[in-house]
Amino acid sequence: MMNPMFKTALETAQKIRSREISAREVVQHAFDQIDARDGEIGAFLSRVDSALEQADGIDAQIARGEELGPLAGVPIALKDNLNLTGTLTTAGSKILEHYRSPYSATVVNKLLGGGVIPVGKTNMDEFAQGSSTEKSAFQLTRNPHDLSRVPGGTSGGSAAAVSAGFVPLALGTDTGGSVRQPAAFCGTLGFKPTYGRISRYGVVATASSLDQVGALARSSADLAALLDLISGHDPLDATSLEVLPQFTEALKSGVRGMRFGYIKESLGGANSSGVNAALERVRVVLEGLGATFGEISLPALEYNIAAYYIINTAEISSNLARYDGMVYSSRVQTSDFNSSMSQSRGQGFGPEVLKRILMGTYALSSGYYDAFYSKALKVRRLIANDFARAFEEFDVLVTPTSPFPAFKFGEFSSDPLAMYLADVDTVSLNLAGLPGISVPAGMELLEGSHLPIGIQFIGPVLGDERLLSVSQAFETATSSEFLGVAPRA
Ligand code: GLN
Repeated sequence: MMNPMFKTALETAQKIRSREISAREVVQHAFDQIDARDGEIGAFLSRVDSALEQADGIDAQIARGEELGPLAGVPIALKDNLNLTGTLTTAGSKILEHYRSPYSATVVNKLLGGGVIPVGKTNMDEFAQGSSTEKSAFQLTRNPHDLSRVPGGTSGGSAAAVSAGFVPLALGTDTGGSVRQPAAFCGTLGFKPTYGRISRYGVVATASSLDQVGALARSSADLAALLDLISGHDPLDATSLEVLPQFTEALKSGVRGMRFGYIKESLGGANSSGVNAALERVRVVLEGLGATFGEISLPALEYNIAAYYIINTAEISSNLARYDGMVYSSRVQTSDFNSSMSQSRGQGFGPEVLKRILMGTYALSSGYYDAFYSKALKVRRLIANDFARAFEEFDVLVTPTSPFPAFKFGEFSSDPLAMYLADVDTVSLNLAGLPGISVPAGMELLEGSHLPIGIQFIGPVLGDERLLSVSQAFETATSSEFLGVAPRA
């Protein structure tokens, strides 16, 4: 049989519509690939059993001559903090090990409505806290480009699933970089929207003022089609915005006349020759297409990590209070209520989550609220103001997605603060609510491995579509050189 996984999701869907291949064959192929290779990668925590049935439904619709959406029949991977009715939704935590979703997230319902087929739930750092997927309570996920390295995190399973070629599309969540950084480490596109463009209803909350659903793909057109499907207002999420998605439309716009600004504060941080070469490459390529480049300083970014980890932990301490062993989550049964609750939480959460709950509770406590939490909110405002000023001069800002490519397992285990500092280029967007995309823009040869490098493009509030214009222009000009399935490591 010919390979049913065509180069892109859109092409696959087109062949399904023209009945060159069935949706069932495509989904079966994805399962076969996962069976054959996910033992070594570890991208998935569970399969979606109903996927083949859903595929049959789509094949039947096509047979009846019904009109279907541009991605109908395409398999997708879902991060395990997205609810899909009847599936386990663990958020990478022991405390939700046995939790089955009684309902689906709005984004998941939109996928199903568009005929996109969830085939599995992917590994993640526990409650989306980490940068390497090593903090999953269940398993490690390996980077398809080099099995001795992390895929990034916290949406590491989703990035690995796309990079390994198991699926052409995946959803993740991004609270401080968790879609963009794993996308950069695994050589895929990774998009985080303006706060409010994609519904969070049915998404396990980490830090609600920072959390957004994001998407991963191997082509800009695929990514745009996916974003067109899942974005938009949701009456069930009061923070979602009434803005119509026009991502596919934006692919055609190009970058002629666009003004790009490197953020000075992040240029010195990259200690990787691959990152520096990629920063230079995007300039040369985009200038060749009629864009201009400059530099700008955003001084408040110096405090971004400090502000982020105060706000993030404060919101985590509040959001995770619901896992009490009573309503949600696994219970440790003891003779009295208090010890049952404290043991359920003490044993159910891993060390990183416990640490963040303690830090966040401390930052919010009456004696320290002014010193920490309220100061962090002021810094957040200063960062947003710096960005607003920068966007008076530039249309798109540019940084590395990460200061370095994928690191080895355990490399940061003795220095947790160093892992937090690795988020330096991504967290500011969540603090300011801005959209960002990580675009694969180079490879670095490190100890015998060719590792992907991602460059981050940042848009102003509601400048989401513009980022797809940039990504498509760069992809076309470089003939998709940096996109695709990872060569077998
Ligand atoms: N690495 C960051 C953190 O640990 C971001 C995580 C995320 O985006 N979910 O909080």
